[in-house]
Amino acid sequence: MLGTGVLEAGPDQRDHPDPPCGQESFAVLRRYVEVMTAPTVEVRRSARRRRTVSAYREGDTIVVLLPARMTEVEEAHWVEVMLAKIQRRSRRQPNDSALSSRALELSERYLDGLARPTSVRWVDNQFSRWGSCTVADGSVRLSQRLQVMPGWVVDYVLIHELAHLLVPDHGHRFWEWVNRYPRTERARGFLEGVSAAAGLPDAELGDAED
Ligand SMILES: [Zn+2]
Repeated sequence: MLGTGVLEAGPDQRDHPDPPCGQESFAVLRRYVEVMTAPTVEVRRSARRRRTVSAYREGDTIVVLLPARMTEVEEAHWVEVMLAKIQRRSRRQPNDSALSSRALELSERYLDGLARPTSVRWVDNQFSRWGSCTVADGSVRLSQRLQVMPGWVVDYVLIHELAHLLVPDHGHRFWEWVNRYPRTERARGFLEGVSAAAGLPDAELGDAED
């Protein structure tokens, strides 16, 4: 017995165990995700620039504008500084209300608005799964460890959990719903890749409680 109820799998609770994993491997996970999602950097030098350095995102590329006269060492330094700055800025400010409205949006777009969760929360006690839901009370929980993942991966886990409110098992009907989200295959591959790269057992293979 785990006591909280949240980590227990009952007949009405569908879980997606990922490997047992504490803070240390969380750092490992974060590093791998950063590598897997590293943006392309394009450095553009301008003779007109004297001292100012700037950077902006252009699709999947981060463009860094530098003065033409900078040395290679200065360039390396400033590229790193500007990348860190842009990535900090674009990092999601995770909170439950943003997560809830995202869930409703996704339900509307991919599940005909039929999945109607009563609560959607980030939780920090799920080291053994990416997300879980309780069909009986309509609650959905996502592991905070997903906060380092790209938004489209978080969307997949949300849709997966929301779809369980419609179909509790992993049968054909379940995947019909989930596959309406066009990035489902890619997101599953991403999560498998993260687990594999970090030397962790595959999350979905451990999904024995469903
Ligand atoms: Zn599932």
